[in-house]
Amino acid sequence: MTIRRPMRMCVHCDRFTTTPVLVSQVHSGSGAGINVYACPECAPLCPRMPDALDLLVTGRNNQVLATRAGQEAVDL
Ligand SMILES: [Zn+2]
Repeated sequence: MTIRRPMRMCVHCDRFTTTPVLVSQVHSGSGAGINVYACPECAPLCPRMPDALDLLVTGRNNQVLATRAGQEAVDL
């Protein structure tokens, strides 16, 4: 039996790798989101993207909306 290793494209260098590292997840309101991978060499170079669910918990989204409306940010 042949063991099949996952192959993903690196978001940084566009090369295929059989040792992908998850660097970000993109959520979608209309279905399943996507995972973004990098090769092990590029993974430390990828900036950590804020997770949409973390933004909901921290209320940063509310602060952005309040700032746009010219109001002072309030934690809910
Ligand atoms: Zn890479």
